Amino acid sequence: MASASSPSSSTGDGNDINTCKLQFYKEISSHANNSSNNPLFSAERYEQMIELIAYAVIDFGGKLKLTKKNDEFSDGIIKYFVQLDELFGIIKEAHITIDHRGIVNTLKEVKKRFVNVTEKQVTLFISGCEECKRKRSMPKSATKLVIKPVISNDFNARGQVDLVDMQLCPDGPYKLIVNYQDHFTKFCILRPLKTKTACEVAYQLLEIFTILGVPVILQSDSGREFVAKIIQELVDMWSGVKIVHGRARYPQSQGSVE
Ligand SMILES: [Zn+2]
Repeated sequence: MASASSPSSSTGDGNDINTCKLQFYKEISSHANNSSNNPLFSAERYEQMIELIAYAVIDFGGKLKLTKKNDEFSDGIIKYFVQLDELFGIIKEAHITIDHRGIVNTLKEVKKRFVNVTEKQVTLFISGCEECKRKRSMPKSATKLVIKPVISNDFNARGQVDLVDMQLCPDGPYKLIVNYQDHFTKFCILRPLKTKTACEVAYQLLEIFTILGVPVILQSDSGREFVAKIIQELVDMWSGVKIVHGRARYPQSQGSVE
C-alpha cells in the first residue's frame, strides 16, 4: 500500500498511522451524538462550550431561563435566550409595542429583553404581519392625510357655494343650479343658473346674501380659484363687502350640500 513516491512514506509507517487515525475517528463519529452530555467535543462544539460558560441560568418567575452573564444586568434589564416556540410571540409583542414600526426598531425593542433574536427572524415576522401588509397596500397620501373637519360655531361664520350640473336635463335656458349653504345651520338656498360664469354665480349669491346676510368665509368644493373669482365679482357689485375665501377641507361638506 505504501508508495515510494509519497513524502509521508519516508517515515516508514507514517501512512499506517494516518489510516489508523482515520479509522479511529470514523468509528468514534459513527457512535457520536451531539447531546449536551457528550464528553467528546468536535473543535466546533468545543468553541461552543467555551461560549456557553459565559451563560447563566436564572429563575424567571418560577421558570428557568438561559441568560448571558455579561449582558444580564448591563442596563438593569435581564436579557435571556428565547426558545424557538417563544420566538413568534416575542417578536410580535415587541412589534406591536412600537406600533408596527420597521425591522430596525422592532429588533431594537426585542433586544432590550432578549439575546438571541436575529434581524432575519424579525424581517421574516414583519413580512408576514397582516397590519403592516394592510398599511403597505394603502396609498401613501391616504395614510398621511389628516382629516381636520371644518367646524363652524355660528350662523354666517362660513358659507359654502357649489354648482350642480344639470346640463343633461336642463330647464329651458337653465343648465346649472347654484347651491348656497350656511355651514353651521345647514340652511340652504338653490338658484337656477344659465352659465357657470363667476359673474352669474356672484349675482345669485348677492341676492341670497341680501336675505341671509354675508358669511365671513366663503368656501367651495370647486376650489379656491372659483371662490376667489366669485368674491372678486361680489366686491365689484357690492363695494365694502368683506368675505374671506376658505377651503372645504373634508369631503362630507360636499355630501351635505348635494
Ligand atoms: Zn406590523
